Amino acid sequence: MTFSKTKHELPREIYIPFVMSLFEGGGTLMFGVLAQALVAALCYYNTGYVAYLVLGVALIVVGAARFASIRHVSALPVPTTMAEAYKREVVYIIGGSAHGFVLGLLSLCAIYLYHDEFAEVATITVSLGTVTAIPGRNYGSSKMVVILIAAVTLPICLGFFLRGEIQYFLLGILTLPFFLVVRTFAANVRHLLASALKEQQAAQRFDRALNTMTHGLLMLDAHETIVVANAEAVKLFQATSAEKLQGRTFKALLQRGVAAGFLDKRDAKYISQQLTRALHEGRNRKVLIKLIDGRYFELSAREGDDDLSVITFEDVTARIASQEKIRHMARFDSLTGLANRAHFQELVTDALATGDPQRNCAMVVLDLDDFKSINDTLGHPVGDGLIFAFAERLAENVSDEVRISRFGGDEFLLFIDDVEDAEALRTMISQIFASLLEPVDVAGNLMHIQVSAGAVLMPVRETSVDSLIVKADLALYKAKERGKGCWQLFEDSLDRAFRERQKLKSELRGAVSRGELLVLYQPIVDARTLGIASCEALCRWHHPQLGLVPPGVFIPLAEEIGIISEISAFVMKRATADCTELPHDVRVSVNLSAKDFRSREVVDVVRRSLELSGLAPERLEVEVTETAIVDDKSKTWTYLQEIKDIGVQIALDDFGTGYSNLGYLNALPLDKIKVDRSFLADLETNPRSLELLKGVVDLTRRLGLKVTIEGVETENQFRLLVDTVDPDFIQGFLFGTPLTKAGIVAMIEAIRPLTRANKKSAVNQ
Ligand code: C2E
Ligand code: MG
Ligand code: MG
Repeated sequence: MTFSKTKHELPREIYIPFVMSLFEGGGTLMFGVLAQALVAALCYYNTGYVAYLVLGVALIVVGAARFASIRHVSALPVPTTMAEAYKREVVYIIGGSAHGFVLGLLSLCAIYLYHDEFAEVATITVSLGTVTAIPGRNYGSSKMVVILIAAVTLPICLGFFLRGEIQYFLLGILTLPFFLVVRTFAANVRHLLASALKEQQAAQRFDRALNTMTHGLLMLDAHETIVVANAEAVKLFQATSAEKLQGRTFKALLQRGVAAGFLDKRDAKYISQQLTRALHEGRNRKVLIKLIDGRYFELSAREGDDDLSVITFEDVTARIASQEKIRHMARFDSLTGLANRAHFQELVTDALATGDPQRNCAMVVLDLDDFKSINDTLGHPVGDGLIFAFAERLAENVSDEVRISRFGGDEFLLFIDDVEDAEALRTMISQIFASLLEPVDVAGNLMHIQVSAGAVLMPVRETSVDSLIVKADLALYKAKERGKGCWQLFEDSLDRAFRERQKLKSELRGAVSRGELLVLYQPIVDARTLGIASCEALCRWHHPQLGLVPPGVFIPLAEEIGIISEISAFVMKRATADCTELPHDVRVSVNLSAKDFRSREVVDVVRRSLELSGLAPERLEVEVTETAIVDDKSKTWTYLQEIKDIGVQIALDDFGTGYSNLGYLNALPLDKIKVDRSFLADLETNPRSLELLKGVVDLTRRLGLKVTIEGVETENQFRLLVDTVDPDFIQGFLFGTPLTKAGIVAMIEAIRPLTRANKKSAVNQ
């Protein structure tokens, strides 16, 4: 069933209650019906016409049926659709129309059919009485109103017309405006009630919206007295109802909060001031308050129209907590809970800016030794566990005033304020080191924490956080140089050395392009013939002010600033070219750095240098140290094999100074090892050293590798080596220091005749 606008000119939310209003108050209806039946009975009594009796009974029957239907429908649930409501309206109209029709008949009988003065007066009175009650009882259905008025008044009108007398005819006409007036009256009642209902519904909706808001809301009048309060506001101010808040001033409400113990007195004053200002200035202002129970609320005041202003407040506890968490995460290390780098710097900067500037303060940087290998061998969870255990130990062994930071990775910083003197600092650091002697249990691994540390002590007025950190770092660097597990106090000389290093680094950058590098050659002799078998290319930096800088100084710097491969390529190119000018049986060896093996470029450098110089690959040897082999970032083994495949020889340099893992000897594509000169240090005095060296040489030889012994300086060393150890080659100042190309050419020329003689005697022996 569809409903057009004309059928139901009212919206659903009005139409349904209107229809339901028809089924209210069945009692008054029944009372009216009885009065009408009584009138019918009286007419019968007065006239003796049975028609009145029949109509009286009909009225009671119709009235009883209507009453029963009203009772039945009103007991049903309220309809939810227009269609259901319409059905009920139709039921009502049928009953009402029947009732009106019987009443109309009663009047028609009295006026036209059976003339009787009493009956006329009685029926007209009861009919008009009924008509006046129509709008009040039936405003819910405009159709019912029209039908009823028509059913009751038209028979009266008709009766008058049918009397055929002019005065009755006029009376009949006069009933028509009455009909219209009552109809209009009913329409007005209907309209009035519809708008009242609409307003009521709107108010209910507003109320629901207001009270389901998550924000609290108070509306104040020009005197800051509360006129509206929603449920949240009632809850916050611990009132029982909104009415209890209405009529109070906002200030009084805040005082109530203080009295109830959920608002601090100062906060209440602050809120009052801020909000009053906001309201007066007509600005939207937000105020954050903390309740005594720890909850946070954000209040905002807004001035509205008509001198009304609104204060809303929102529970922002969760937001504040997450902001706090984010702030915490930004300032503290998640593993140890210690201040992170940025926060630590802030804390120290603040500490340095306050207090007596004459006092001393100290910065200590602690670095876990070999942490990388712990991470690599035992895994990151154990690494993390160790960091955590160390942080705990640190915190336990320093006073609460010491600020601790995990500065990154395995590096920790301590800022100690107001340190008496260097002795006091020493005591503190020794205490920390002593506390580390006890092993820690990390995931079932009993581990010793070993650290290196650098410390600096400075008067507050002379320093800054950055300078403290730089100096402590320099001291740490020095401590590590001295060996692991120790600490160093900063001295000015370290600073000087640091500055010089920095200066040297920047100068080194352009050294290759400025042609400041040169290559010297140190002869390596055959231990049996004493002829020059090869020479090692050793680089020098000719510094404009400092003169010749040794590679021990500038090679590590070049590695640090990332230009080592440039230097290696230069030396490789020069050495291969120079070697072509040496006799065919003399080879050249070139040192390569561990960092060279981080890129395949190293293989190309070798190949290109050979191509460019035309040197036979067998005349070139590359020297690598053990550091290159264990550098996990490098693919040393692969690239060495590729270099070897070209036909170049490979020597392991400085053997005995590093890890000295004999396992490498077999696994690597080596041709030769060069035993470091440190082996010769006590060769003459300690027979065990000699035995050790002999053992190493024997083993190496059994693996098919040649042996060079470096650093032979004396005749005595040479004799001892030749007699007992029997190496293949010897290198050392005894046979020549590093020489220029011309120098080495001259030397080879000079000793060639002697060598030939030696070779002959070696063959004859
Ligand atoms: P190395 O490869 O072991 O070279 C031998 C070093 O021992 C040279 O020092 C040499 O002068 C020195 N030496 C030789 N015989 C004796 C001796 O009888 N007594 C003493 N006390 N020393 C002796 P140098 O030239 O200062 O080189 C030091 C290190 O610098 C070299 O050790 C090598 O590792 C590195 N190096 C030199 N040139 C280069 C280069 O072009 N590239 C790379 N990556 N490293 C280089
Ligand atoms: Mg070498
Ligand atoms: Mg060496």
